[in-house]
Amino acid sequence: MYAGHGHGASAWGRVADNPTGLDAINPGEHLDVETIVDRARTELGSVSTHSVYDALHTLDSAGLVRRIEPAGGPALFEIRVGDNHHHLICRGCGMVVDVDCAAGAAPCLDVPDTDGFVVDEAEVTWWGYCPACQRLAETGPQRPADEEAASRSPRG
Ligand SMILES: [Zn+2]
Ligand SMILES: [Zn+2]
Repeated sequence: MYAGHGHGASAWGRVADNPTGLDAINPGEHLDVETIVDRARTELGSVSTHSVYDALHTLDSAGLVRRIEPAGGPALFEIRVGDNHHHLICRGCGMVVDVDCAAGAAPCLDVPDTDGFVVDEAEVTWWGYCPACQRLAETGPQRPADEEAASRSPRG
């Protein structure tokens, strides 16, 4: 049994030291910590949630994973970093889709008045319904706000 803290001796401590081993997240995926913990356990056996948080924090600090925090949902992690891309998020199922930044570099939106701020980033998220959820809305009764169902992307 792993203590899950100490000197980063857990299996995921190894991942933090060797980021190419971060294969729990595939390109194009945006995963919450729960999902990453599940995958880490499948791959590595006993892994504490704490050690996964630690590894993600280390990777985030090193710029090797990107963390996004959609309103009303858990933080999501992805391995596409450094290109200032944006996201489309489905209100129905929580699916997240990458959108290339049209301007190419941050900040990609002009601020009418920076009020003295030095602006280096604009975080853009478009909210709506994905094609599958649109079809669902057409064919079936629309469900009210789905607090349980929205927490996880069905693609994976
Ligand atoms: Zn959807
Ligand atoms: Zn993304």
